[in-house]
Amino acid sequence: MHALLDLLLPPRCPGCGREGELLCGPCARPLARRLAEPPGIPIGLDAPLPPGLIHLEWCARFGGPVRDALHALKYRGERRLAGPLGAALAARWRAAGIAVDLVIPAPVHAARRRERGYDQAAELARELGRGIGRPAAELLERTTQTLALHDQGREARASTLVGAFRIREGAASRVAGARILLVDDIVTTGATLSGCAGVLLDAGAAAVAAIAVAREM
Ligand SMILES: [Zn+2]
Repeated sequence: MHALLDLLLPPRCPGCGREGELLCGPCARPLARRLAEPPGIPIGLDAPLPPGLIHLEWCARFGGPVRDALHALKYRGERRLAGPLGAALAARWRAAGIAVDLVIPAPVHAARRRERGYDQAAELARELGRGIGRPAAELLERTTQTLALHDQGREARASTLVGAFRIREGAASRVAGARILLVDDIVTTGATLSGCAGVLLDAGAAAVAAIAVAREM
């Protein structure tokens, strides 16, 4: 049903409401702002690399039209936004990323996925993979519900996510020896990415890097 509605409704920019474009030029501009910046975490940010990751990138600061676009992708069923957002991920990775073999989305809960009909990180991973010429595969899944995260402090949130991910059945052979690029929509503490990286490294991944559309800081 979602797919059918997608085709029938004219796109409307989530940033400014302009009709006819999924994400208009001015609202897409923040996604390209970091393209000329050097790789890695900018000096002055008090966030070290989350454990388990050898490299972390993002396209834009979380806010303004980028926040609106991610919100529309996640909660309003505007699946088509994975196109321009995934293209922005690919552009940043081509500019600042390292060599990888495989793109894997950070998994959402099955229940939330059923509700929405798709997984926004998986949609982004597919577009990113296409943009950098690497396969994308959903090889991770959540094992536990991690509810009410917003009520907890950052430390508690990080510990809640420990053990919350596992490799999907039958996927271990694809992970072993692979240089993996994890994808998520937003990176905040990096706890989700670290949790995913931990299980991938335990399963024999050669290295794990990550990219998100937006960074909350
Ligand atoms: Zn706009």
